[in-house]
Formats: sequence, C-alpha cells, structure tokens
Amino acid sequence: MSRQKLEQLGLDLPLFPTTSVGSFPKPDYLVKARADFNKQKIPQARLEELERQATAFWIETQEKLGIDVLVDGEQYRGDMVAYFAERMPGFTEGGLVRSYGNRYYHKPIITEEVQWPGPVTVDWWKFAQSLTKKPVKGMLTGAYTIMDWSFNEHYSDRRATALALAQVIRKEVEALVAAGCKIIQIDEPALSVRPEELPIAIEAMDATTAGLGAYFITHACYGAFEYIYPGMLDLAVDNFDLEMSNSDLHMLELFRSHPFTKDISFGVVDVHTHVLEDQDAVRRRIEQALSILPKDQIWVDPDCGLKTRTVDEAIDKLRLCVAAAKAFRN
Ligand SMILES: [Zn+2]
Repeated sequence: MSRQKLEQLGLDLPLFPTTSVGSFPKPDYLVKARADFNKQKIPQARLEELERQATAFWIETQEKLGIDVLVDGEQYRGDMVAYFAERMPGFTEGGLVRSYGNRYYHKPIITEEVQWPGPVTVDWWKFAQSLTKKPVKGMLTGAYTIMDWSFNEHYSDRRATALALAQVIRKEVEALVAAGCKIIQIDEPALSVRPEELPIAIEAMDATTAGLGAYFITHACYGAFEYIYPGMLDLAVDNFDLEMSNSDLHMLELFRSHPFTKDISFGVVDVHTHVLEDQDAVRRRIEQALSILPKDQIWVDPDCGLKTRTVDEAIDKLRLCVAAAKAFRN
C-alpha cells in the first residue's frame, strides 16, 4: 500500500530501501565552531558556513555509501525539541534539565500561544536536496514530543498543548511539501512514555499530516512499546522507524501477535555501542524481520540517530546497513 504511495509521489525505491534516522556526528571543526559561537568568538555567518560544509560532507558520504533516502544530518541542531522551541513564538527558554544519559538541555516553557515563525527547516532541506538527486527526508520533531519535553504554563492541559503544537508543525510540513519535499519524518521519541496518552499522540499526528501529499515516517525508540502496540499503528504515518537491535528485536514478538500494518524502517545496527556488528549478525536481523514482515514493507537503517558515534563509526555502521540491504535485494 505504501509502495503505491511512493510511486504516486514519483519515488522509485529499491526493495529494502536504506536510510538513516536523522542525526550524524558533527565533525571536529563544527563542534569547535559551535563552542566558539557560544562564546561570541565567531559570527553566526561563519558558523552557518561550517554547518553547510558539514551538511555537504554528509550528503556526499551518504551518496558514496549508496544510501537510498538521505538526511541532512542535523548539523545545525543541538537538542531536537529546543531547536524548534527556540524558533517558535510562544516559548521561553527554561532552566537546565537532564535528558537521556548525561545530556543537559534547557527545557522550554510555553508561556503564550505557540505560533509558526515561518519556515524553520525548509532552507536546510533545500540546501541538502540541491546537492543530490536522491530524495532527502524533511526532518521535524512531533507535536506530542515537543509538548512532553516542555513545561506548559499557557494551555489548559496536555492535549490542548499537543494540538496547538500540531497546528504549528503542520505549517512546517506544508512548507516542506510546497518546496518539493516528498518524504517527511516526524520524530516522536516520547510516544510510549505515557501509554494512556497514546490517543493524544494519534490526534496530534493526524492534525499534523492529514491530507498532505508526502510519505510520512515517524521515529520512536527505547520505549515500552508493548503498552502501546497495536494501538500505535493508528498514527497517521506510512512508516515507523524503530530501534530494533538494541532491544534484541523483541518487538517482533508483538508483530507476531498482531500484524504490523505499516512500512517499517528496521533498525539493524545498535547506535549505542562503539562495537561494529559483523555482517552475519546484521543479516540475521533482516532474516528475522522477513520471518514476520512482508519484504516490501521493510526499510533498513540504524536503530537511532548516529550523533553520539564518531564520524568514522557512523560511516562504518551505515556501510553495514547498505551491504546487508543489498545482499537481500539479490
Ligand atoms: Zn531514536
């Protein structure tokens, strides 16, 4: 079904299309430039120049590796929620809180009605897409996750907050579609945090994507999906990009009890380890996927964003994904 949608959009992808979740590590010169910018040692224009240089490096790298659906690598982003909140009227920067691992970020506070400031990601998408003939995904953070990772001092409750944010993210989706973007990923890593709120996440995604002409992917990871499956399949997207390998493919058991009805970007390499999996282990993961899922539903990618790996580790992991997918095409 989703294959048809891809074809209607003019996207001719091979079996087992390869992609990545979104973030890539920043090269050393960009890490340094971001620190220098924060200390006001270099102007914004210089930082942006280096962000473009790093984006171009990653587009070229993905092309060389033979990846089918590219990402811009998010070289201009810090945190995936703060990046949008800092640009949206209605938010105020909050105090430092700890997120996953040892990462700290300023948890945004919603103090007024949230508004779309005009295109946030579109110029980055256009720049990345101008460097390649392969499709580049538009990358957004979903309304439910932005709501969950922010404090709300304005709206009456969490549902009202998520739906207001959905209207804002929808405008960004519309702008990406108008620019020619055909595959849009809307990340919802908070999806499984409060299973009783799954209906809110579904309503918000519906408000974000309904009736818009793109192939939609959502990414979620490291959650207790047994509490939201199969209900999560009602999310208005075409493809779930899921971390599978870090959890030993245990979601496959859920798919056995209730068929997985969407396309899946199946995480075949663990991003939380320096260790590079061997080819056979990755192939076995795809074989296990094929024991339950039809082959034309399966995309191949890493479990999650690669930004915590080194540049070389990230490239090695991507190379493994591509080799495994190609082996199954033949
Ligand atoms: Zn993830």
